[in-house]
Amino acid sequence: MLCSGVPTGYCPGKSDMKPCRECQHQVSEQATACPRCGAPFPAREKWDGWGYEYKSKATFLGLPLLHISFKFRPNYVPVPASGVIAIGQFASGIFTLSQFGLGIVSVSQFTVAGFAIAQIGMAYSLIAQLGIYLQEGRG
Ligand SMILES: [Zn+2]
Repeated sequence: MLCSGVPTGYCPGKSDMKPCRECQHQVSEQATACPRCGAPFPAREKWDGWGYEYKSKATFLGLPLLHISFKFRPNYVPVPASGVIAIGQFASGIFTLSQFGLGIVSVSQFTVAGFAIAQIGMAYSLIAQLGIYLQEGRG
C-alpha cells in the first residue's frame, strides 16, 4: 500500500478529510471553521492566529534578522514584529516599517525612533507631518 501508515491528509489522492484539532470531528482540509465546534482552521495541527507572519532563521543580537508580522492572535491581540528589520502593523527593531513603530530607523505612521519618516513621530532626526524634534538647530 502506497499510503499505509500515513495520515489521510498527507496521502495524495485519498480523502482530504481530517479530524478537527479541537473535537476530532471529520472536516475538510480546506475548512476555515469546524462545523461542529467552530474552531478556526480545524484541519491544521497548530493554529495561533490570523494573518501573516514571517521570521527569518538568521538572528543578530538575539533578534531575528527579518520579522514581518501582520497577524492577530485568536484573542484578537496583534502580534508585533520584532527584529533587526521589523515590518508590521506594530513593529520594534533597528529598522522598522510599520503603522506603529519603535526603532532606530523607522518609517511609520506613529513612531519613536532615532531617524524617522513618519506622519506623527518623535525622533532624533525626523521627517514628519507632526514631529517632536530632539535635536537642536533643525527644522
Ligand atoms: Zn471541531
